[in-house]
Amino acid sequence: MHTIVWFTNDLRVHDHEPLYRATLTKMPLIPVYIFDPRQFETQVLGFPKTGVLRTQFLLEAVADLRKQLQNSGSNLLIRVGKPEEILPQLVKELSVKGVFTSEVYASEEANIAQKLSNALAQEKVACKFFHTATLFHPDDLPFNIAQTPDVFTTFRHQVEKASKVRKTYVVPPTFRSPEGVIWGELPTIAELLPNEKSSPTLLYKGGESAALERLQVYFWEKDLLKVYKETRNEMLGLDYSSKFSVWLALGCISPRYIYEQVLAYEFRRTKNESTYWLIFELLWRDYFKWVSLKYGNRIFQEKGIKQLPQIPWKKNHAFFEKWKNGETGIPLIDANMQELWQTGFMSNRGRQNVASFLVKDLLVNWTWGAAWFESQLLDYDVCSNWGNWNYVAGVGNDPRENRYFNIYTQAKRYDSQGIYVKNWLPDLAHLPADKVHDVPILSDAEWHRLGIHYPKPLINARKWLSKEPFKTHKASKPFK
Ligand SMILES: Cc1cc2nc3c(=O)[nH]c(=O)nc-3n(C[C@H](O)[C@H](O)[C@H](O)COP(=O)(O)OP(=O)(O)OC[C@H]3O[C@@H](n4cnc5c(N)ncnc54)[C@H](O)[C@@H]3O)c2cc1C
Repeated sequence: MHTIVWFTNDLRVHDHEPLYRATLTKMPLIPVYIFDPRQFETQVLGFPKTGVLRTQFLLEAVADLRKQLQNSGSNLLIRVGKPEEILPQLVKELSVKGVFTSEVYASEEANIAQKLSNALAQEKVACKFFHTATLFHPDDLPFNIAQTPDVFTTFRHQVEKASKVRKTYVVPPTFRSPEGVIWGELPTIAELLPNEKSSPTLLYKGGESAALERLQVYFWEKDLLKVYKETRNEMLGLDYSSKFSVWLALGCISPRYIYEQVLAYEFRRTKNESTYWLIFELLWRDYFKWVSLKYGNRIFQEKGIKQLPQIPWKKNHAFFEKWKNGETGIPLIDANMQELWQTGFMSNRGRQNVASFLVKDLLVNWTWGAAWFESQLLDYDVCSNWGNWNYVAGVGNDPRENRYFNIYTQAKRYDSQGIYVKNWLPDLAHLPADKVHDVPILSDAEWHRLGIHYPKPLINARKWLSKEPFKTHKASKPFK
């Protein structure tokens, strides 16, 4: 008899409760990863649900997991197909007694988990789910998930007062796997995305090894955690923020492991607002998971969590394409969209600005923006992405009504010398610092004098110079 550990968005061996629990059964283990073709399908908007950069990152993460498991005397069985069909087949073929896996937080994944549980129940095999993705275990929260507060600050205060982060699980260094298993090959990019022929080179490497190395460098070698709160709003380079999100998204690093390392850092180096702030941000991540569980499918709907019926989102494909391609004529927006396209990453500051611009200046349907982020972001996380988009679009749980980003003011504040923009938009690299963000408001004569070859702005950017408050969609209906 064997047990299966089905890996999903938990691609690590450290602090992995399903793996830990499976080793306690003393039965030989079969670790499994399944590439689900539905995750790579082209969406109605014409791009794949998982774009080529995120696919490459995933392939690297799965390859690294296989290496880690091989180092432990085991291996990773790799298949392509629907998990709810493949796992029951494996259970029959390999005489499996139990399946151990991670909990899921959104509806698509929950449907698959339900179908799988039903299919396994027919074989009299139990499928056990464990929470591996969050800082706090839901059983340790001071409220039921259905009562998760609708305001983040209320949530944070309650959790900080009443809950403790559980210790990380110590998985045995070696475990047994059966002989004679056909472990299978890692698919290629072209097999998953038939329109893509080559494998891109990424700025961030997928996998647990790279995740742990990043923490080592960010905390211990470069000693950057102590200034995190001051640098986190920057946009250029590797070190202004942790970049943990790319690995957290696939579970290559455990949030509880990060927490333990923050405590160790506070003990051995410095304890200050910055060290606290990283945990604060991880709480946001937890929060969006509980909000997703509480509101289910609503996070994906135009009406959002608040179920606001009256917002007339525009289905303007021309505007959307320009936004996607970084051709809006607004340098801060275009630079950020170029960074996303070229690297699969964008800073939090950038994300808030480009999302606000799409939704509140171009008035384009926010779900399109969320879908593009889903395709492109290496750190795509269903709850964090759709939750944050709900927030920016004014249909989520933001206590401040009608939050609006004045892109010009943001650009002058967070990229005062235009260095970020010049880095991603070579066409503007020759401009003097004080002209970079002024491009959309300069006269034709100035464009000619400065030799500017750049798209004309999609909106009248002069409105950002006005002192009048901006009129955008009103998001005022309370939660039901
Ligand atoms: C429109 C929009 C879409 C987003 N989509 C995603 C997404 O798909 N995946 C994702 O992980 N984050 C998303 N974020 C949140 C945030 O932008 C990223 O987590 C952050 O930029 C990642 O960089 P970092 O790891 O260096 O973050 P750091 O500043 O170093 O923060 C540490 C960790 O805290 C968490 N965190 C920080 N800010 C947030 C936040 N606002 N919401 C949730 N968690 C947060 C992340 O796990 C992050 O790795 C989105 C934000 C916006 C505005």
